[in-house]
Amino acid sequence: MVISDAGIFNTYEKLLPKELQAMPDIQKQLSMVKHGEGGLSIFVGLNGTKEELGLKASNYWIFAENNFDELMEKYMNEEREKASKKIPLLFVASPSAKDPSWEERSPGKSTLSLVSFAKYLWFEEWKDDKVTNRGADYKELKQAFINSALDVVMDVFPKITRDKIEYVDAGTPITNTHYIGAPKGEICGVDHGIARFSPELNATIRPQTPLKNLYLTGQDVFLCGFAGGLAGALTCGSVILNRNLHLDSFVLAMKTKYINKKLKDE
Ligand SMILES: Cc1cc2nc3c(=O)[nH]c(=O)nc-3n(C[C@H](O)[C@H](O)[C@H](O)COP(=O)(O)OP(=O)(O)OC[C@H]3O[C@@H](n4cnc5c(N)ncnc54)[C@H](O)[C@@H]3O)c2cc1C
Repeated sequence: MVISDAGIFNTYEKLLPKELQAMPDIQKQLSMVKHGEGGLSIFVGLNGTKEELGLKASNYWIFAENNFDELMEKYMNEEREKASKKIPLLFVASPSAKDPSWEERSPGKSTLSLVSFAKYLWFEEWKDDKVTNRGADYKELKQAFINSALDVVMDVFPKITRDKIEYVDAGTPITNTHYIGAPKGEICGVDHGIARFSPELNATIRPQTPLKNLYLTGQDVFLCGFAGGLAGALTCGSVILNRNLHLDSFVLAMKTKYINKKLKDE
């Protein structure tokens, strides 16, 4: 039995032998999905405590305008130079502010994780270069995206100023290809457009594949994110073990809650 977490594109287009890739049922599944959007990750190291920098243990989704679909479409269809000048949507979180033991381990320092989208095509020309040594043009483009993201951050968190930034680097869609095998730099596997949620797709793309003893697991058989990937694993395990692991985990959670409450009351 083979269980693949490498994603539907990698599993069907790279890991299967050519003659199996060509099977009509495999091709049908591939025709129902498309690659999700590429991710841009920016990692920032700051001088200053969370109090000094005004950071909280919260997640921020920052949008330049309210019409999210329009915003995203416009940004992703820009030329890369223009897109790099203004990032219209940004996720910001401070891992250090969420970590109760941080101050003890790294006094006076803080971190930020910034996540947005970027088109694979904007970076594709450097995909075959050596990672960490992709040349000055690549670095320059990355820096332009970094600067735009930092502008957004400094606007929302006025206590963060340029002189507080000790370290900053970015990962682009081709970084995701290198490190997590995302074929087009996808941040979350296959695209999550409306088509992904059609009854036909959900009835067709399941942990069971057209090949006996080959199963798919992870985000591509459920939803993106850690929770989605985990739910995909429970679904895949349910199929293989022929029992509902979602229900098992729910019952386990209820039992644990009950036991914990009882112990607390005693
Ligand atoms: C930068 C970034 C930030 C994210 N932040 C969050 C977040 O804050 N919260 C959240 O919920 N989700 C986040 N996500 C999404 C989350 O990481 C994914 O949805 C989740 O990891 C999917 O789990 P998975 O097991 O399905 O796939 P993955 O975790 O992508 O695992 C797939 C595995 O397959 C391997 N693989 C690929 N090709 C091959 C091959 N040919 N041979 C062998 N192995 C192969 C890869 O190396 C990888 O280990 C983030 C993703 C990225 C990229």
